[in-house]
Amino acid sequence: METPSKNTELIDFFVNSLLSWYYQNGRSFPWRETKDPYQILVAELMLQRTKASQVVPVYLEFIKEFPDVFSLSRASPERIRDYFSRLGLEWRAEKVLTLAKILVEKYGGRIPCDKEKLLSLPGVGEYISAAVLSFACNVPVAVVDSNVVRILSRYFGITPRGEGRRDKKILELASKILPEQFHREYNFAIIDLAALVCTPRKPKCEMCPLREKCSWVQKNKKD
Ligand code: SF4
Repeated sequence: METPSKNTELIDFFVNSLLSWYYQNGRSFPWRETKDPYQILVAELMLQRTKASQVVPVYLEFIKEFPDVFSLSRASPERIRDYFSRLGLEWRAEKVLTLAKILVEKYGGRIPCDKEKLLSLPGVGEYISAAVLSFACNVPVAVVDSNVVRILSRYFGITPRGEGRRDKKILELASKILPEQFHREYNFAIIDLAALVCTPRKPKCEMCPLREKCSWVQKNKKD
């Protein structure tokens, strides 16, 4: 087990290297250019288990046709299904319409910047609520999915128990690491590193900004 000072050093290196890498290599998406909670929520509803590049054209057309939660709440279920089926997410369409109606009726068309309220909405789980809070509401919350778990467990040498994104140890670590001031950029950075460098199979460690202190690299050197 690492000493507290060693741990701080590891965390500082992780955050600083990741942020520097992001400013040079981070990806650009239309939903990252906005802080409109509605647009961010729509993007997150579309991004579940879908490649971000595939989402871009569908998202842009969708936002053009339904520019706000009011227009979405009046949409026909078939029209919403058309969009979501292009992403293999047709099962989500009905929830999206119900969600829009609730937002109009209960919240006057606003997306609530409150974790419990977000989690009570249909189709919104821990990940989407964290993404909306960080990306749209400027609340410092760590987004944690299986990709983030992979990076944290490899770098810090932790074996997650069960479903990693629900593992208390991983969740505590993710919150501890999160830089409050740059939480938005940090969350984007870790998502991008997982997609471009620390991939599930054959991570590209030779081009990773974290390799110098990564447990995975050190372990594989020894083996
Ligand atoms: S050095 Fe390799 S294993 Fe470690 S975080 Fe980077 S890509 Fe992942």
